[in-house]
Amino acid sequence: MSEEAMAKAAPAAGAGAGRDGAAAAGKKAAVARGAGETPDLESYRGVGIFIEQHGGQAAPVAWELAGIGRVLADKLGVELIGFVAGHQVEAVAREAVERGCDRVILLDHPALAVYRNEAYSRVLTPAIREVKPEIFLLGATTTGRDLAGTIATTLQTGLTADCTQLDVDPETRLLDAIRPAFLEKQLAVILCKKHRPQMATVRPKMMEPAVRQPGRTGEIVRFPVDLDEGSLRTQVLGVIDEPDPQAQLERADVVVAGGRGFQDPKNLKLLFEFAETVGGVVGASRAIVDAGWIGREHQVGQTGLTVRPKVYFAFGISGAIQHTVGMENSELIVAVNKDPQAPIFKVADLGVVGDLFQILPALQSELARRLDELLAEDAAEAGGAGSSGETEDAAAPAARAGA
Ligand SMILES: Cc1cc2nc3c(=O)[nH]c(=O)nc-3n(C[C@H](O)[C@H](O)[C@H](O)COP(=O)(O)OP(=O)(O)OC[C@H]3O[C@@H](n4cnc5c(N)ncnc54)[C@H](O)[C@@H]3O)c2cc1C
Repeated sequence: MSEEAMAKAAPAAGAGAGRDGAAAAGKKAAVARGAGETPDLESYRGVGIFIEQHGGQAAPVAWELAGIGRVLADKLGVELIGFVAGHQVEAVAREAVERGCDRVILLDHPALAVYRNEAYSRVLTPAIREVKPEIFLLGATTTGRDLAGTIATTLQTGLTADCTQLDVDPETRLLDAIRPAFLEKQLAVILCKKHRPQMATVRPKMMEPAVRQPGRTGEIVRFPVDLDEGSLRTQVLGVIDEPDPQAQLERADVVVAGGRGFQDPKNLKLLFEFAETVGGVVGASRAIVDAGWIGREHQVGQTGLTVRPKVYFAFGISGAIQHTVGMENSELIVAVNKDPQAPIFKVADLGVVGDLFQILPALQSELARRLDELLAEDAAEAGGAGSSGETEDAAAPAARAGA
């Protein structure tokens, strides 16, 4: 497989998807060396996932872990075990069952109401020790990354950060923790052969979330929590609930991103106006972030955010792998670039080879016109059969998503 193809295989995640020849060969060699170590490994069974929640609201990545966790557990023929920590979070535990967990370990205590590394690791680490899952996954969120390091070092086991794919070999029971490496140009398959659980954090938005199955049954086990607030070294004085621009970008249905093709920071106002017209949030390549044209909170890509909107517009972005890794799972990608060879066209569903200074305003006014039409139709149909006619081109989903 060419280096480029390998790099491209990395973010095309999915359960066990895209295992390439090189990775498989590497693993075989590793397995041959590592078979049958300490018998203690046998006492670990099940796939554990950390169900991250804040104020009783599960983080979206929790259900993405439930999705991939279920696949791994089925391959191994073991339970999927959710670990929920918080205060008054039974509803989250019940939902974890409906999302595919066979058993949920519930750690409920007032001192766990707001995430703190010390409190969470002090209850989760002994719970993991007792339950002994052979695999333990967390989301690669701010919380998950913080917690995973503490748990892994306390349990003295291996942790792979920010995986984009996971797979498991039912024979060796080894987890393939797969992540882009070397500037995302190659895939690294990382194994944890001699220690348990095999830990990994998983990049948000790379896995399909588990579908909720109302009425699905499972066991919820309340674990005793021995925490004394006075013994904790960190205190949360308050939580500032400011709108988080990064979260906005991650949740947006429409992302309108720009790159160095804008040529001058003052031209970015075109990008912002376009975003406003289609109800989108502005994204950016690292090149224009590094150049100081726009804030880092807009950056999409390997060292920025991963987004998965319904529509992603890429204006004047070349499509370097470090950029596409953060957006290629978008449902529809529309690219405008004056260079027909630009790699962005490899991931784009719709592409226009042309000067963005001509295309962008034309596209914007056409979308605005269609949006007005749709809104007018909706108004005319008020109380009627809902959304208006289907159109077969790019403009329609963009207009609908922005409406
Ligand atoms: C370790 C590492 C991490 C990185 N992380 C990230 C990351 O998270 N996100 C990220 O984006 N990058 C990242 N990069 C940088 C990445 O490799 C690219 O350099 C960057 O994405 C390029 O940005 P760009 O597409 O805006 O600029 P360029 O590559 O310069 O592309 C500009 C494009 O605009 C087109 N263009 C020019 N004028 C016009 C016009 N008038 N109309 C239409 N098209 C026009 C050109 O044809 C060109 O394709 C990282 C790099 C490294 C080494």
